[in-house]
Amino acid sequence: MAKGVRMTGLMNEEISQLLVLQDRDAKAARLEAELESIDPEREKTRRDSLQAQQVLEQAKQAQMQLEVRRKDLENEVGSKKEQILKFSQQQLETKKNVEYQALSREIEHVHQAISELEDQELELMEEQDAFKAKLAEASEVAEAARASEARTLSELDEREKNIGTELDELDEEREQLAGTIDKKTLSHYERLLDTKGGSVVVGIDHGSCGGCHMKLQAQEVVHAKSGRERVTCTNCGRLLYYTREMILANELED
Ligand SMILES: [Zn+2]
Repeated sequence: MAKGVRMTGLMNEEISQLLVLQDRDAKAARLEAELESIDPEREKTRRDSLQAQQVLEQAKQAQMQLEVRRKDLENEVGSKKEQILKFSQQQLETKKNVEYQALSREIEHVHQAISELEDQELELMEEQDAFKAKLAEASEVAEAARASEARTLSELDEREKNIGTELDELDEEREQLAGTIDKKTLSHYERLLDTKGGSVVVGIDHGSCGGCHMKLQAQEVVHAKSGRERVTCTNCGRLLYYTREMILANELED
């Protein structure tokens, strides 16, 4: 669009309407971005909780394996003790000294084996004791993660609902507002919003476009100051305005 298109009506009024519209649109964009962040947040809290449950499951499995190993050792000790009983019985029954002595040596070996197994069992029990603290911690973490998941999910639901309501209100407000703005101006504004995103109605800042910061021609600044024409930046196409506050600020600086 050519710069400085002549229009009827008060540009200042139009600019202030567009600024309100821009403010609403920016607010809606922020809310929509927030809305989009909700699902990833839901997934994250579910993932964190699931992970804590898995750590707990693994700890439980490891504890069970320790218990199985300890039981195995216990059984082995039991069967070795039975062996000793059997050898002792055989000793009672034999009449040969050599055989008796051989059985004594066997019994001695089995005693040694039992002693080794019992050492292993003790070590394993110590390991189990140490593991109890780890298991308790994993259990606490999993519990906390589950509670946090429930709390976060309900907070997110609430937030989602509130944002939805706010967006509905903004939509309604926007529709009313848009209805009061000149159609051509509105479509120019919306086109700009699509391509630039964010601020498309910008102030003149020290003789430059407040959007792209390119120096404006003196004539454009004059037109904007007069407030009688719609002025767009020749570089980026944004709608420009000049307010009394800016004039005052510039005068103070000079
Ligand atoms: Zn510009």
